[in-house]
Amino acid sequence: MPERTFEIAVLAGDGIGPDVTKEALKALAAVVGRIPSTGYHFTEHPAGAGEYLLHGNPLPDATLEACREADATLLGAMGLPGVRWPSGTEMTPQIDLREVLDLYAGLRPIRLYNPAHSPLRPLSGPLDFVIYRENTEGLFASRKNSADFTAPEARDTLLVTRHATERICRAAFQMASRRRRHVTLVDKANVLPSMAYFRSVFDHVAADFPGVSTSRFYVDAAALYLVKDPCRFDMMVMENMFGDILSDLAAGLVGGMGMAPSGDIGGGHAVFQPSHGSAPDIAGKGIANPIAAILSAALMLEWLDTPDSLRGAKLIHRAVELVCADPANATPDIGGALSTSRLGDRIARQIEECPE
Ligand code: ATP
Repeated sequence: MPERTFEIAVLAGDGIGPDVTKEALKALAAVVGRIPSTGYHFTEHPAGAGEYLLHGNPLPDATLEACREADATLLGAMGLPGVRWPSGTEMTPQIDLREVLDLYAGLRPIRLYNPAHSPLRPLSGPLDFVIYRENTEGLFASRKNSADFTAPEARDTLLVTRHATERICRAAFQMASRRRRHVTLVDKANVLPSMAYFRSVFDHVAADFPGVSTSRFYVDAAALYLVKDPCRFDMMVMENMFGDILSDLAAGLVGGMGMAPSGDIGGGHAVFQPSHGSAPDIAGKGIANPIAAILSAALMLEWLDTPDSLRGAKLIHRAVELVCADPANATPDIGGALSTSRLGDRIARQIEECPE
């Protein structure tokens, strides 16, 4: 019997969500095989566009309650392009979860596991940085508005509050203190007053972290440098919409959406999921890359932050490193021919065997 068991809510969701979630659970089972003193009890809950089609609600109350009660939530992917609200927008229960549970920090680690996965070469060093995306406001604050298609115009408001900006900047500086001690602010302070405000709050927080150096980039320049010299970055912090866009660009640098894990983190709750969506173009083909989901499980173990869970996270990272060292250990999106489950099996076996 494990000395401690964490309750994990599992929302596999739509499209490739169930396939990649299965591989993340396989990796976690391998971790428990190595570290039996901590257990993880998984309970699956319905959510997503498929659930909406069945019962009329993409995020049932019971599922939301289960996420609230759990120690952490592991999510696959949500949404299907053909399933929309009457306003025309897609079902995004993962964004609803962020708002309801106040998961303000969108953690998007970007790490290159094999140079063959990147479209960039040569690189000037290791590619390993983290995007912290403000998750609760910014331009997404307008997402529940509806557009009147017969009106002469439509407007969205970019909301920046001191409270939300301060807490995401503080979280970025705290994480930077445990990394290479540098934070890059990405904004558009030269054009938008809301962004000048974001910058003033960032500067105020920076003063509390004298040991962490800073730089400031306008978002257009940040996009340029992410492509030309991504190895210069360590921690990056930015508004919601900028984070949405740049984290996909950054995922492209390390092999695509199948290599990009994420965590949506709040004060007492957190949801971990691959950065990708339900990928309807490859759903049902058995070729989705499970690495983003497996690395999201590792992020979850880091967030649980016990000696055993931290050991488990290290084992997963080490196993992914070792497996990816052979470029043939890859699904088609990163240049290989393995199926989702074959790649998941190889990572699970490596977790069972690799030295700590
Ligand atoms: P969302 O709006 O929910 O972010 P999207 O439709 O913009 O979703 P994704 O579903 O993330 O985007 O897919 C973008 C592209 O990346 C697609 O071509 C998809 O096939 C590919 N992709 C996404 N996830 C994976 C994966 N795990 N393995 C392989 N390819 C993937």
